[in-house]
Amino acid sequence: MARVRVESLRKEYDVGTVVAVDDLNLEIEDGEFVTVVGPSGCGKTTTLRMLAGLEEPTSGRIEIGDEDVTDVHAKNRDVAMVFQNYALYPHKTVFENMEFGLRMSTDLDASERERRVVETAEMMDISELLEDKPDELSGGQKQRVALGRAIVREPDLFLFDEPLSNLDAKLRTTMRAEIQRLQDELGITAVYVTHDQHEAMTMGDRIVILNDGELQQQGAPTEVYENPTNRFVGGFIGSPSMNFIDVTVDQVSDGLRLRDTDGDFSFTLSAAYATANDAALGMDRYTLGIRPENVSLADGQPQNAITAGVDVVEPVGSDNFLHLDVGPEFIARVPSDVDIESGDHISITFDESDIHLFDMD
Ligand code: ADP
Ligand code: MG
Repeated sequence: MARVRVESLRKEYDVGTVVAVDDLNLEIEDGEFVTVVGPSGCGKTTTLRMLAGLEEPTSGRIEIGDEDVTDVHAKNRDVAMVFQNYALYPHKTVFENMEFGLRMSTDLDASERERRVVETAEMMDISELLEDKPDELSGGQKQRVALGRAIVREPDLFLFDEPLSNLDAKLRTTMRAEIQRLQDELGITAVYVTHDQHEAMTMGDRIVILNDGELQQQGAPTEVYENPTNRFVGGFIGSPSMNFIDVTVDQVSDGLRLRDTDGDFSFTLSAAYATANDAALGMDRYTLGIRPENVSLADGQPQNAITAGVDVVEPVGSDNFLHLDVGPEFIARVPSDVDIESGDHISITFDESDIHLFDMD
């Protein structure tokens, strides 16, 4: 296994008209499982392909282990990649698919190669499939074989490019757990790419968020969830999405008053909050973010209650999502035993400690 260091990595396509990856810096520890997440087209696959040596960076540097591999050919990097479409050789059996990579990348003799394939097949629970061809396998079995083929090589670094996207939801959950088990048992260093923030949050020791080829934030999943550094991250991580309201800030005697442009919404931050966040509160306009689970129903007449109409009540088991007519899209998550129907007018509030204030886009 190996640590990975990426420095000022940049990739342009079509003579600079597309900047797929823009000045990316990353450090991945030996044995760390890092998830990279972002919307389609943000540069995830390009980043992985550069790590694998399948795409040449426009500029920047890649180290795997202690070696600068920026100019090292793919076949001389000790890296295994697992793809969404499995990429198995259709005319080879499962055994041959797994053994082929070993033959190409190591000088193990035939009996040792066979021993490793059989052992890995047992670990992946595919022993009974070894003589089958890929088209005889289900999607889940193909992905197990693709994983087995990567693992059998014992590479320094594993790269996963949305490996579970073609599987149904139930199988996806099973395979996620399986990959995490392998990670625990084998201590692999991995970069796991997905567009699914839930998958990224549940699987990663650390999560790296990209948008438009640029690193937005990286950190432990809880840290990114609790302290998103910009509006993009706040909106991308968490489901349903964080609510946003553009506000202006005014000094008032008892703190700072936040108001939206049409004046429907007003919320006063306490003087203590304003003092504690003094450094961060230098502007007179912000985008306020509040997560649906941090919105509560205002009982009685608290100072910072906001009246809202209920457009839709969406039941999701133990909770309901209330779609409210505050701003363009505003969702509150409340227990389902609270008796609220569409058309009702309710009063909501939130705790100032749950508010996020972002620079306006
Ligand atoms: P993701 O995997 O996050 O969906 P990609 O890395 O595939 O994103 O793509 C990033 C950007 O680079 C996109 O705008 C995409 O259209 C562009 N791109 C990717 N590959 C090529 C290519 N071979 N030629 C030109 N543009 C490309
Ligand atoms: Mg991709």
